[in-house]
Amino acid sequence: MMAAGRAAERGRWVLLLEKNNHLGNKLALTGGGRCNICNAEENKKLLLKNYGKAEKFLYSPFSQFGVDDTFNFFASHSLPLIIETNQRAFPKTEKATDVIRVLERYMRQNNVTVQINTEVRGFTVKEKQITGVMINGKTVFAESYILATGGKSHPETGSTGDGFHWLTELGHQVAEPTPTIVPLATQDQWIKKLAGTSLDDVKITFFAAGRKSFAIKGRILCTHFGISGPIILNSSAKVADLLHKGKVTANIDLFPQMDLGKLDKYITKIFDSNKNRSFKSVTKLFTPSGTNSAILSLLPQINPEKKIHSISKQERKQLVNLLKSLSVTITGLMGYERAVVVDGGLSIEEVDARTMRSRKHSNLYITGDLLHISRPSGGFSLQLCWTTGWIAGNNA
Ligand SMILES: Cc1cc2nc3c(=O)[nH]c(=O)nc-3n(C[C@H](O)[C@H](O)[C@H](O)COP(=O)(O)OP(=O)(O)OC[C@H]3O[C@@H](n4cnc5c(N)ncnc54)[C@H](O)[C@@H]3O)c2cc1C
Repeated sequence: MMAAGRAAERGRWVLLLEKNNHLGNKLALTGGGRCNICNAEENKKLLLKNYGKAEKFLYSPFSQFGVDDTFNFFASHSLPLIIETNQRAFPKTEKATDVIRVLERYMRQNNVTVQINTEVRGFTVKEKQITGVMINGKTVFAESYILATGGKSHPETGSTGDGFHWLTELGHQVAEPTPTIVPLATQDQWIKKLAGTSLDDVKITFFAAGRKSFAIKGRILCTHFGISGPIILNSSAKVADLLHKGKVTANIDLFPQMDLGKLDKYITKIFDSNKNRSFKSVTKLFTPSGTNSAILSLLPQINPEKKIHSISKQERKQLVNLLKSLSVTITGLMGYERAVVVDGGLSIEEVDARTMRSRKHSNLYITGDLLHISRPSGGFSLQLCWTTGWIAGNNA
């Protein structure tokens, strides 16, 4: 949409072909529906470090259309952005659908013709030039072609990897796509009971074959299949490595800001002022919202109806230990269907960074998730789309 809008703004006649009956199905899912539209890291050097081996490649593209341009673009289309923790930027309205609306309007204002329900089946090629795209038994001819078919994550949104297939057929080098930024599957019933609940400001420590590997702090989202949320998604590549080493477990610390002794004192104080209330009603005062009954189910030895004055010191310690170390067994990574980003794609060596043009086909431009550029979650993927889309449109 960005590429189409920009090419049309430059005076081209543009036709956008989309196989779904809506534009931006994946965009609508981003940031849990709020759309983490970009990362507002001001220092370009630091920002580009997030793109791993593509750091140098992206220098020119980000000089042409960087984070500032993303802010300006959306603000000038009446969608100002706000910045949250870790420099994650969102539309002020916190609605991904507003981002789609802006892009649709941008295309409409510049007279892009949008044809939905139209699946592209392949290309026709002559002497290193694309000569047409095939749709429903017909061929559409154009001067330039911008490929923006996305990767392979959440294939139900339309991104089924068609672009990877065509690029391979066209003689390009395409690294096998593998899910990277992806939630983790767990076997624990208590996690499943908490589906939809978010554990904020917690710490999770991962172990492989019983040995501590690494720890990370932030927000965890419990789901019916396991755990997700920014820190989990960004740990998934490391966890994938650990899974090769043996059984992977993790401990969630709900109170990382206090050590065991401090937490015990804190809870003792709460217990002292609520002696005649039931255990289950008092634990509710300090367990994260919505988690109380799941946490109590992990302490079957303590009757939840028991009055606080009858809770023994040993029982209180059991509770404190549990709050500092909720145990999770990781059974694996979720697949394409739940991945946020799939690694792999077109080798950037085969793309001209200044124009996004293929080095093998002089009228073909490639954007977004099709490019083999690894990055963490936090708005870096969509920024890559705005940047490469704008440049492809600008040059096509
Ligand atoms: C659940 C989820 C949450 C995410 N959240 C964020 C976030 O908050 N911030 C962030 O930066 N990134 C996020 N991402 C990543 C981000 O959504 C992608 O990087 C981005 O959408 C890629 O854009 P794209 O234009 O390359 O491809 P896509 O958005 O995948 O769009 C490709 C389009 O091409 C169409 N298409 C495919 N094949 C054909 C064909 N043969 N013929 C016609 N049309 C075709 C598809 O239907 C689709 O509409 C998230 C991803 C997921 C899955």
